[in-house]
Amino acid sequence: MSGVRGRYAPSPTGPLHLGNARTALLAWLDARARGGVFVMRIEDVDFTRARPEYEAQLLLDLRWLGLDWDEGPDVGGAFGPYRQSERGDRYAAALARLDAYPCTCTRRELRALPVTSMTGEPVYPGTCRNGQTRPGRAPALRWRVPPGRVGFVDRLCGEHHQDIARDVGDFVLRRGDGAWAYQLAVVVDDADMAITDIVRGADLLDSTPRQLHLLRALYPAVPVPRFAHVPLILGAGGAKLSKRDGAPDLGALREAGASPARVVAALARSVGLVPPDVRELRPSELLTAVSPADPLARLTSRPLDLGGL
Ligand code: GLU
Repeated sequence: MSGVRGRYAPSPTGPLHLGNARTALLAWLDARARGGVFVMRIEDVDFTRARPEYEAQLLLDLRWLGLDWDEGPDVGGAFGPYRQSERGDRYAAALARLDAYPCTCTRRELRALPVTSMTGEPVYPGTCRNGQTRPGRAPALRWRVPPGRVGFVDRLCGEHHQDIARDVGDFVLRRGDGAWAYQLAVVVDDADMAITDIVRGADLLDSTPRQLHLLRALYPAVPVPRFAHVPLILGAGGAKLSKRDGAPDLGALREAGASPARVVAALARSVGLVPPDVRELRPSELLTAVSPADPLARLTSRPLDLGGL
């Protein structure tokens, strides 16, 4: 074993679409080609949206594609449980070590704040920072963000820096309805599960400094994982693939009798891992096609060609 521990961490809030499948394939490839362990973690922390039937479906869909994992909710492992809904005691223990305060700002009030260019979200102005909460509302808990710039070098996107206090503001660790925030849960889990390499969609690039800030505060001795934020999947027009492109989800493809090898080939072609004439491919065939030192080094992004699925 190389010491590499990678993971895929889907949220079971809907059918797995081709973009999710491609990210899963790349996370799997990165861990496997480097001789690492691959972990499947179910991010069902948002109990208003997560459904067990989506979890069952996505695990089935990923296996159908030809992916496998060494640890996960269905196979067990030494770092479990592998479902966030079963890890609340860990998040509570982490929360107890952070300086958090109750916030009763409404969603409408937060939505009315001006959006910043840095993250595309408003900066929290600290309205409830000094204890002026309103009675009668279940408060969210926000982290009193310590000052300082946080940065990292992404394997694919290069350097990325943020000053969290200035660019994001105090952010939510636990929602008013009791749901743990993704930002907290993901940091606790990646540290607890000794994840060394995180491969995920580029939509999460802006969340990473927040997570590194939390990581430093909670686990100063834990090594910072390496990150690769992979491109979001593009549709025929070169814009982000959407339902309008008529892209079916993975379950629909499987049920329609599509061949997984054709789906994997289309996904691999769309990041330039194989030449345009490769029409069928098993994930295991990719292992020898990439550099074992850096399996994602030559990733490109081109529109997904669904022809022949
Ligand atoms: N659960 C997140 C999602 O499905 C991914 C989180 C992560 O990879 O850090 O978008």
